[in-house]
Amino acid sequence: MSTVDQNLDAGERYFQKNGLELTQARIATVGDITVRRLLPLRLRRSVGAWCFVDHYGPMSVDGITGMMVPAHPHIGLQTVTWLLAGNVLHRDSLGSEQMIRPGQLNLMTAGRGIAHAEESPVEHDPRLHGVQLWVALPQESRFTQPAFEHHAELPFMGSDGFTITVFLGCLTGTCSPATTFSHLVGAQFVASRDVKTQVAVNPDFEHVVFVLDGTARVAGTDLAPGALLYLPTGHFEIPMAAPAETILLLLGGVPLGEPLLMWWNFVARTPQEIATAVADWRDGRFGEVGGYVGEPLKAPLLRSSMRMSFALRFWSARRARRYMSNEVSVPSRAWQSRALASSLAIRS
Ligand code: MN
Repeated sequence: MSTVDQNLDAGERYFQKNGLELTQARIATVGDITVRRLLPLRLRRSVGAWCFVDHYGPMSVDGITGMMVPAHPHIGLQTVTWLLAGNVLHRDSLGSEQMIRPGQLNLMTAGRGIAHAEESPVEHDPRLHGVQLWVALPQESRFTQPAFEHHAELPFMGSDGFTITVFLGCLTGTCSPATTFSHLVGAQFVASRDVKTQVAVNPDFEHVVFVLDGTARVAGTDLAPGALLYLPTGHFEIPMAAPAETILLLLGGVPLGEPLLMWWNFVARTPQEIATAVADWRDGRFGEVGGYVGEPLKAPLLRSSMRMSFALRFWSARRARRYMSNEVSVPSRAWQSRALASSLAIRS
């Protein structure tokens, strides 16, 4: 999935309670599909290495084309595809072609560069529900070889009424076989009955919890689809209560500690890297995605006036936060230049 975002100006509703943060998704469109964009946030670019969360559906794709995301490039990240309903066909510039269904994991490591397309196959299930997640690659792994993995079997465990599937990283010693480049967790919780429990988590991780289906009360906060609850490091367990059949996602990891520059489908560190990736895509250096009928996506224009307006908006939000935390009084020239660079990330 790509991040062509039609809705840059929607504000994030946000509040803090007991050190936790609750935000509401922005509504964005990817192709013809409306998604709840839960990450990145203007004030929080990543949670562990997780840097992008789109939740779509449940929706009917009966008798329509469904998901059609033409070929597009990625650098510096892993894409994680996780479905609750439906089926999606993945193709990439390595020649991979893989159908994914609920309970399975598609993990694409972009590393220094890959292109892919995702679509509902011609004969597809009538419903579609899932998430598209990105994991930022840490500095030492950013330029790794591109790769694609499909995992049909993932470890799961029962715990106090939850069936927990660990699709990436580790949760209390249960680890997904999928390749990771930082310490993190991605796990799905399905309530097999009415549940009220404490979920043990790694206190070195920061986490987000969100509902994919149903409602839940997590760490004293009511959650419904579209809400994202952030918990900083230092939590040994997370109180969760949910009626039967609720489905939750838990994502977490050791704080990345690296500023991410996200623009379109690229996760980088400098504007120059973004500009290079745009040129590489334009000139066909990411390779071809065979089999997808339709034109590849074009990168949006990097117009300087647009960049500046994003810079100012982003700058004031960041500056407000830094004022509040007494980090700075007057923005330095270096800070202004970083703000301009970060402004690119607003489009992500
Ligand atoms: Mn993609």
